[in-house]
Parts: sequence; C-alpha cells; structure tokens
Amino acid sequence: MKLAEAMKEKMLLSFELFPPKTEKGMENLPGTIEHLCRYKPEYISCTYGAGGGNVGANREVCQMIKKAGPIPVTHFTVIRNTKEGIKEQLDQYLAEGVDHMLALRGDLPLGETTTCGDFDYATDLVKFVKDQYGDKFEIAVAGSPEGHIACRSLEADISVLRQKQDNGADYIMTQLCWDMEQFKRWLDAIRKAGVTMPVDVGIMPILDQAATINMALSRNGCVMDRELSRMISRHWLFPNPFNPKDSDGKPLDMFYDKKVKEFKEEGIEYTVRQIDEYRALGVNGIHLYALNKWKDVSEIIERSGLRTLV
Ligand code: FAD
Repeated sequence: MKLAEAMKEKMLLSFELFPPKTEKGMENLPGTIEHLCRYKPEYISCTYGAGGGNVGANREVCQMIKKAGPIPVTHFTVIRNTKEGIKEQLDQYLAEGVDHMLALRGDLPLGETTTCGDFDYATDLVKFVKDQYGDKFEIAVAGSPEGHIACRSLEADISVLRQKQDNGADYIMTQLCWDMEQFKRWLDAIRKAGVTMPVDVGIMPILDQAATINMALSRNGCVMDRELSRMISRHWLFPNPFNPKDSDGKPLDMFYDKKVKEFKEEGIEYTVRQIDEYRALGVNGIHLYALNKWKDVSEIIERSGLRTLV
C-alpha cells in the first residue's frame, strides 16, 4: 500500500518506536506493539541510530511491526554511510519485506562538520534511492515547520523540501512543532512553493519534563509556547529536571511524586488539544512519537477520539 495515496483519502494514524538498548526492552517490545495495534495504525516507524550503530535492532523491530500487521517504515540516515553500505542495507530491508523508509540526513556526529559519509543531504539520499530502486521504496522525508536548526532561512529550507519532492519523495513527516501559528505559515508557504506532498504531523506526547526540554532544545530549537513553558515552571523538579534524584536515587524535590504525576496529566491534556488543532487544519496524518510507551499513548488516543475501540 502507498501511504501517500492513502493519506489523500483519509487522515492516517501512525506511531514511532525506537529500538530498545537492552535485551529486556527488546523482549517487551512485541507486547507494546500489540497494545498500539489495537488502534489500527496504518504504519509504525522505527528510528535509526545516526551512524547505523543500531541497524540490527532496527531491522528486528521492523520485523516485529510487520508481524503485528502495520506497515513498518524504517528511518534511515546517511551519517557515516557509503553508497555501497547504503545499497547493501537497503537490499537487506527489501529482502525482508521492508519497502517504506523515512530518508534523512541525520544529525552530524558530535565534533564533526560533515556527515562523514558519501552524501551530504537527505535530497541526495532520495535521489540515490530513486535511481537505484525506482518505485520499490515509498519515501517519506522530514519537514521542519520552524526551519531546520542549521538552515540559512525558512525559504532555503522550504526550497530543500521542494527538491526532495522533485527528487521523488512521496510524503512529509514533520519535526515536532508547538507553535501553531508558525505551522500554519509554513503549511501555506510550502504549498505556495509547489510542495504537494501529504503532510504527516509528528507529535511528541508531553509526559516528562526532561524529555520535553531535551527534545525541544538539545538539537531542534523548537519554540515552546507560553502554556507549555508555564506548565514546566509550575511543576519544575528542583534542583532541575535532568538531575532530580540524589546518588541513592532519592528525589531531591519534596513534591517530586505529585509534580511528576500532575505534569504528566496536564501534558496529556496539552497533547490532546494539540492533536485537535492539527486535525482542524486538515493535516494528512498524525504521527505520534510513541516513545515505546503504550499506556500513555493509549490515553492520548482515547481522549482525543482519534480512534475508538468500539
Ligand atoms: P536535510 O533535509 O538534508 O537538511 C539538513 C540541513 O541542510 C537543513 O538545514 C537544510 O536546510 C540544509 N540542506 C538540505 N539540503 C541542502 C542542499 N542541497 N544544499 C544546502 N543546504 C541543504 N535522526 C536520526 O539520526 N535518526 C532518526 O531515526 C531520526 N528520525 C527523525 C524523524 C523525524 C520525523 C524527523 C523530523 C527527524 C528525525 N531525525 C532522526 C532527525 C534528523 O536526522 C535531523 O533533523 C537532521 O539534522 C536533519 O535531517 P534532514 O533529513 O531534515 O536533513
């Protein structure tokens, strides 16, 4: 099935998982996938460690997804990858029945100024995949509603998106964006630039303070709106959310449990409202960064009414 075609007919629901680092995490993942599959996602994607370090685990997770029913979409980056290496890996994915990918550049390795591989950008990867494989892979590409952190300008970034489309990409998966006004401006601008690809919106559930701040600011430069900033301040874990416990694992903030619980509850409500706003804009898909957490994600889906289990 071509997801881009399906997205033109209806708004799709999908999840994103990452390959767990531990054996126990891997053992638990089929159960997580099974729970998420109750909501009948059209696809589930799996992240790819920059540099291909976890490619074995990524392939294993793709097979778990395939076995459970949804289409597996593998993320793929050019970091530290040669043309031959890319071809070898993509041949292997195809042989294993994985023919949907999210073609990314990847974040540059720390301390490096290049990808340390044969390609510089995601546009090159899209072209390579098209040249080598024709239509065998359906190709998603990243879109950054606030502009990629390293782009020269939003206009330059939008031109790159158009180039990805011209090179053969099928649809867009977006970077998280909490700034709805900016998202609307970007959507308008990409359509004016002739980008017709469906837009599948990436949404990170707000469940944990440190993870939220980390995702927004460690690499992506995403703007947090007033409501989200105030939520984080109201429930701030002293001395800071990144080191909230002492060396014995005891919380340093006397209200730790209450704050964690309340932050998550408000975060789920915030995420649901964000989903409402995106749906009201008529986006083509909601892609939840499920972070391998099925219980909280289920809560979000049910409260938002994205899917019912009736
Ligand atoms: P590109 O589109 O190549 O853009 C990178 C920068 O270069 C931008 O500033 C762009 O404007 C500029 N640029 C692009 N092409 C050109 C050109 N031809 N000439 C000049 N400038 C150019 N990373 C991982 O490592 N693993 C993952 O699994 C992963 N999953 C992700 C999932 C989603 C939904 C998203 C949105 C991102 C994900 N990332 C992942 C992060 C992604 O790899 C980074 O954001 C990375 O820094 C940029 O990737 P890109 O594909 O957007 O790069």
